Amino acid sequence: MTDRKPLYKGKSKTVYDMGETDTVLVEFRNDATAFNGARHALLEEKGRVNCAFDAFIMANLAKNGIKTHWLKRLSPTEIVVRRLDMLKIECIVRNRAAGSICKRLGLERGRVFSPPLFEFFLKDDALGDPLITEDHILLLKLATQEEIAKMKALTYKVNDVLKPLFAEAGFDLVDFKLEFGYYQGELLLGDEFTLDGCRLWDQKTGEIYDKDRFRQELGDVIKFYKRAAERLGIDI
Ligand code: UDP
Repeated sequence: MTDRKPLYKGKSKTVYDMGETDTVLVEFRNDATAFNGARHALLEEKGRVNCAFDAFIMANLAKNGIKTHWLKRLSPTEIVVRRLDMLKIECIVRNRAAGSICKRLGLERGRVFSPPLFEFFLKDDALGDPLITEDHILLLKLATQEEIAKMKALTYKVNDVLKPLFAEAGFDLVDFKLEFGYYQGELLLGDEFTLDGCRLWDQKTGEIYDKDRFRQELGDVIKFYKRAAERLGIDI
């Protein structure tokens, strides 16, 4: 690979400049973090498993008319993506209650949300990624009303595509996080879709197949990531 300059090192991915104005290289690393980086571990094979999982999901979204940054896989742990100008916002859809919403609102874990619930969070580690309203987004000039509407609609559409896809493999898609950015004036899905950023429960047993295995120290994190991939027919 010629001249690659790290542009940004995130908690589990590194973004490299390859000298192209419109694309960047993303490397999925083996790092696992939780609680805003307070817990960290290196999990063997995580980068490869996440890269394969992300590729499968992005391809499925594209097939269903949702444009993403994803362009091609370069190696088992590397992809080439469109270079987006990212919005500092996290979009979350919840089909069932888990994690922060249970603590925040005192809801029972597992409660079904019908229709699914949408939430915005501010992407700001120093502030601990707080929940924000649409008015906060407008006040902070993080996005326009039109962009807010687009992000919400796209996130719901992703849920409409992925919920049945996971259900076919016997999984409940409990919640997930998306991030969007601009590419040549168009709002596209960026970042990643992996088991680090969603919650996935076995429909029959309720067994956890996502990063909560790491957060809750349940063990066998990558074993479950690989099992989920296998049930979805992902080649890793
Ligand atoms: N999530 C994420 N990155 C974040 C915050 C949340 O990927 O910085 C994902 C998380 O894995 C879960 C969903 O978004 O699938 C909802 O997370 P929640 O608000 O419950 O926060 P948590 O309990 O994970 O701190």
